[in-house]
Amino acid sequence: MSDCIFCRIRDGELPCKKVYEDEDVLAFHDIHPKAPVHVLVIPKQHVATFSDADEALLGRLMDRVRHVADSVLGLKEGWRLIVNVRAGGGQEVYHLHAHILGGKRLSF
Ligand code: 5GP
Ligand code: ZN
Repeated sequence: MSDCIFCRIRDGELPCKKVYEDEDVLAFHDIHPKAPVHVLVIPKQHVATFSDADEALLGRLMDRVRHVADSVLGLKEGWRLIVNVRAGGGQEVYHLHAHILGGKRLSF
């Protein structure tokens, strides 16, 4: 069993509120939302952090992020994309993930 919580969510060993899944990524609601809509998008492949991901993986991840935000979640007024990179950037879970925040006008 993996000791990575996002691998365990990917494998169905831990529950999540899933919003989208395909062969490359999984998207689910953040357990501690910081906006009315707060969704995490993870690559299914375990990559610890943004700096470690190759171009192809980043391209697929970013493409799916916009699909989830614009089409699946329908955040018509706009949204924010955040990727925290290592400790100095506030990263707590070391499985690459993109935060989608929306549902209100973000002022911070
Ligand atoms: P980071 O600070 O690493 O960029 O963000 C990690 C995010 O994962 C945090 O916003 C945190 O609330 C979320 N998170 C941590 N554990 C879980 C979990 O078990 N389930 C879900 N859905 N989100 C989690
Ligand atoms: Zn992982």
